[in-house]
Order: sequence, then C-alpha cells, then structure tokens
Amino acid sequence: MTSTLDAPLISTTPNPARALVCRGCGAEFPLAAQHACYECFGPLEIGYHADLLRAVTREQIAAGPKNIWRYAPLLPAGQDPAARLTLNPGLTPLIRADALAAEVGLHAPLWVKDDSANPTHSFKDRVVSVALTAAKALGFTRFACASTGNLANSVAAHAARAGARSVVFVPADLELGKIVTTAVYGGDLVAIDGSYDDVNRLCGELAETEEFEDTAFVNINVRPYYAEGSKTLGYEVAEQLGWRLPEQVVIPMASGELLTKVDKAFTELVEIGLVEPPANGWRVFGAQSAGCNPIAVALHQGTDVITPVRPTGIAKSLNIGDPAAGLYALEAVRRTGGWMEYVDDDEIRDGIRLLARTTGVFAETAGGVTTAVLRKLVASGRLDPGAETVVFNTGEGLKTLDAVADLVGPTHRVKPSLRAARDAGLLG
Ligand SMILES: *Cc1c(COP(=O)(O)O)cnc(C)c1O
Ligand SMILES: [Zn+2]
Repeated sequence: MTSTLDAPLISTTPNPARALVCRGCGAEFPLAAQHACYECFGPLEIGYHADLLRAVTREQIAAGPKNIWRYAPLLPAGQDPAARLTLNPGLTPLIRADALAAEVGLHAPLWVKDDSANPTHSFKDRVVSVALTAAKALGFTRFACASTGNLANSVAAHAARAGARSVVFVPADLELGKIVTTAVYGGDLVAIDGSYDDVNRLCGELAETEEFEDTAFVNINVRPYYAEGSKTLGYEVAEQLGWRLPEQVVIPMASGELLTKVDKAFTELVEIGLVEPPANGWRVFGAQSAGCNPIAVALHQGTDVITPVRPTGIAKSLNIGDPAAGLYALEAVRRTGGWMEYVDDDEIRDGIRLLARTTGVFAETAGGVTTAVLRKLVASGRLDPGAETVVFNTGEGLKTLDAVADLVGPTHRVKPSLRAARDAGLLG
C-alpha cells in the first residue's frame, strides 16, 4: 500500500494525526500502513498536531454521537462519519461498586468500567473500529488479525457489517465461546496449532506477501491506528466522572497496549486542558495471570528485560507470552508510581465470582484477573484504599463459561409443589 492518510478528508473536524512517530528513536514517517521504524525497528505510534488537539472542547465532545466517535477529534481516523467502518462501540457503563469496595477494603469510591457492553462484548471493538476505518482509508479491502479470541470476534463482526472479507487467525485451543462468536459471522477463521505468539509470527510473515497485499492485519501493519482506539476508554472514564481523572486505575495486560493508551489518554486530556490532574497525579496498575506474567515479573525484578514465556492457564485472552508493548507498560507504571500483580487460576475464578456477586457484572477470565489483582493490590498495600479507583472489565463472561461452570449452579432442586418447596427450606 502506498497511499497515506495525508489527503484532506471532507468532514467538519480535521484529522489531528500528524505522523507516525518511533517510540524508540523519535524518527517520523508519513501516515501510511507501517508499524516498525526504518531506522531502529522500534514500534511506531501516532503523533498529533498539538494545536488541533488543543482546539477540542468538552462541548464539542458532548455534542457528538453516543459512542467512541464523539472523540473523533482526538483520534487518527473516522472524522468523516460516512467513511467509518464500525459497529459504533463505546460509552459503556461506568458502575459505582460500593459492595466490591467494601469486600476488598477500599474506602474511597470504586468504579467498574464495563466494556463487556460493547457490540461484540469486549473492549476490542474500540481498537477494531479505529483500525478498520484507517485501513479502509488507506485502501485495504480485506481485514485480518492475530488474536487471542476477542480481536478475531470483533474483526469478523466489523467485516460482516461492512460486507467486506475477513480472515482471522487464532490459537486452535481457544474457548468454544470465542470460536463460535467469531465463526458465526461467516468470514475465514484460521485455527493455528500453536500459541498466540506463533499465530502472531505467522501473520507478520503473511502480511509481507503479495497475496496479502490487500489485507490489513489490524494489530500488525495498521497497529499504530489500532492502538489509538484504546484511548477512548480513558477519555470515557474522564467524561463519565464529570471531566475528572481517577487517582488509580487497574488494567488487564496482554500486549500491554491498552494500559499504555489509557495513560496516554489521561496525559493528553491534561495537556490540552480538558481536565485537571488529581493533586498527586494518577497511578496505573497492571494485571496479569500467573500463567502469563512476563511484564509483571520484569517489574518485580526491577529490570527492563522482558523474558518471553509460554503461556498457560485459563485467562486465554491475556495469553501473549512476548508482549509488544510490555516495555511501555513498565514505563507508564513506574512513571506514575503504580504496580503490577498476577493471580493464579483459582484466584481468577474467585475474581469472576466476586465481581458478579458484588456488582452484577459477569466478566470473562480477564475481568477475573483484574478483580483478583485489585484485591491483591489492596491487601499488599500497593493500592491506596483511600484513593478513587477505576477497574476495567474488558470482556464478557458468557464467552468463557467453562471458567466457572463447575463452581456454580442451582442452589436448590425442588419438585413443583408447595410442600417440596417447604421441605427444601425455601419458605424459611
Ligand atoms: C486483548 C484483551 C486485553 C488486553 O489487551 P492489550 O492491549 O493487548 O494489553 C484485555 N482484556 C481482554 C478481554 C482482551 O481481549
Ligand atoms: Zn526508531
């Protein structure tokens, strides 16, 4: 692909994206389908025109649609509504969680940002809507990804809505709930006999072939655009709190990208004057599972060397053994004074049930990870129990039923008569 996003778009707001900027050496490149720096091979991210970002107002956002596109003036794609390739995700509930706070020992306000409410029931709809809208503008006609489940689900659904072709790649041992909710949309679904990291490597190779020249791999060749979609979670939390930032956020990590982009969103909002930072700033906390904890282990060991692992355990959506944004997640957590923790499979199952019982939100395993890590961080004193906190539930429990299927079920079994109900103790 040789086209770029520099061409003027017909729209009411200009595209604020300025260039692709290397996270390693700072080199800049045009807004094309490129994800690695030609100078140092570092990852690229979107750089913005500061003056265009600073021109954005709360009123302008409030007047926008009730989905992620209200933040289009802060995103690298989608300013022209007619050119969006999207399921219109976003503006998911921010739920006050007093009972959960009491259980884990927090006495400041605690909120759950529930992204299971998105169209395909995970936060991935945000990144896919931005990635595919950018990819379409760049001339791609087929859409692909390497996925731990939710990304495949979202890409397949977006392509179906747009009447476009999709080919998504997943590890063959994925949960049935993730396979079915992806396959039903009718695109190509390729199960690979290997780990996510194997899938990702293969997709990187495929993306370089002539046969895949028309294909945007959302988290490979258009990754800089994809990653920016996660910023909308940070913007929404700020807006839903009445244009304030929480003092602490707890975020699940796979590649670590979501964590870095929530931090980037908060940073931008302060820089452009849309919010005041909390008096002592905000602190970012990362959550992993014990079966795949390379970023948290690097933090605990005080090193910048992230040693890849071969993931195990039930939190499959987070099972990236060689996390692309791990270094940047470490940087954000260290800079803000946060921490990272990991929890084992039993703690994850407990976390799912704790969140469900105290908030009415049924999370997938990733939400169990985050809830269990929240509890662990309070217990260890790493998280301040007196500081306002937001935890992110990024996915839906119905997709990973097996995680808790053996632990919950009917509490009573009764014949259909009043007497049987009484005998069973239902009348007290
Ligand atoms: C992909 C995913 C994440 C983490 O995403 P990264 O940006 O790769 O860290 C978290 N939760 C769920 C449910 C996911 O599917
Ligand atoms: Zn570079």
